[in-house]
Amino acid sequence: MPTQANTSARRTLTAARVLAEVIMQGGASRSRLAGWLGVSKASISRAVEELIGNGWVEEGARFRVAQRGRSATSIIARAGLGYIIGADLEGSAARACIFDCQRNVIGSRRRAIDPSWAPQRIGAQIRALVDEVIADADVPSEKLIALGLALPGVATLDGREVRTTFAQGKLTRVGIHEMIGDFELPIVAADNTLCVSDYERRFGVAADVQSFASVLVRYGIGAAICSNGRFLSGEAVLCSELGHVRMQLDGEECICGQRGCLDTLASGRTWPSAEERHGERWEADLANRAHHLGVGIANLLKIVPLPVVVLNGIYNAYPDIVRPAVNSALNAALEPIGLQVPSLRFGDDLESKASISAGLRALDQCLGEYLERSSLARRSA
Ligand SMILES: [Zn+2]
Repeated sequence: MPTQANTSARRTLTAARVLAEVIMQGGASRSRLAGWLGVSKASISRAVEELIGNGWVEEGARFRVAQRGRSATSIIARAGLGYIIGADLEGSAARACIFDCQRNVIGSRRRAIDPSWAPQRIGAQIRALVDEVIADADVPSEKLIALGLALPGVATLDGREVRTTFAQGKLTRVGIHEMIGDFELPIVAADNTLCVSDYERRFGVAADVQSFASVLVRYGIGAAICSNGRFLSGEAVLCSELGHVRMQLDGEECICGQRGCLDTLASGRTWPSAEERHGERWEADLANRAHHLGVGIANLLKIVPLPVVVLNGIYNAYPDIVRPAVNSALNAALEPIGLQVPSLRFGDDLESKASISAGLRALDQCLGEYLERSSLARRSA
């Protein structure tokens, strides 16, 4: 027989999981929550009642349930329940933003990064941005939940140390606090390709599909595969290096030491400077780069067939040239051998999506801890 204490602990746990899911998904009905969390609808209803009683969630709009002719009520988190900070790093800049539990961004900043890519110097720049968005937002410090960091090529070793490729493509081990300095909130680091892809899956252009390939081209070229609603790679492994798929065995030398990687043909690292990116010659060069990118993506899809490819990063500024070039490369590579040719989608153009996604991943890990330490949790105990 379960003791009363056990039952109460289990209910609190269910309530915390429901709350995390509601924030992560941006709202959900009771029956969808029951499906996602694998618990009974009665348990979900009890948890939602408790969360409403605590003032942590509220009932939102009613919406139609597809194909059933019924409607359901969406449960949404109270915006001011807490605030999440996210930051991300790309080829030439770092960004940080702070958002509430309904994903309203209440402050964001962006700054060009130190060209030396020294981890400590970049860490100090990210830290300065984070401090600035916190100051801009002017919310009570006890309402801050966690900081999520999206970094290139990151594998989280033990939560305190990460392996990242951000020093010009070279693999570096770096302690999070060594990079960011002393920080009063929990910090969770994640791979930036995974963060961008997860945003597309939850809220962006891939929200309507279960499986897709997601490609992010900035300084390097990363890829993630979502299969039946789940990403095949997690935080603990480095495996999104589409840029180092080799295209020409005797090609140009790559930063990885091999020759002819896709990176040497299509990455942001190899792009001409901004002043050179105009005119007919650039357009032909860009089409050629996009063609190579398409061939590289097709190589991936020859092993894992996926109906949709989502593209993000530097190529998205040139859809008129990039879309036909990538599409024709995919067609030429896949169609003759009878493989499915995917539809190409350009990613959502929200600038802070990697930061938001990194923040949500941090929230997912730290919400329980936050509720415990918040005065709200103490009041309900
Ligand atoms: Zn390489």
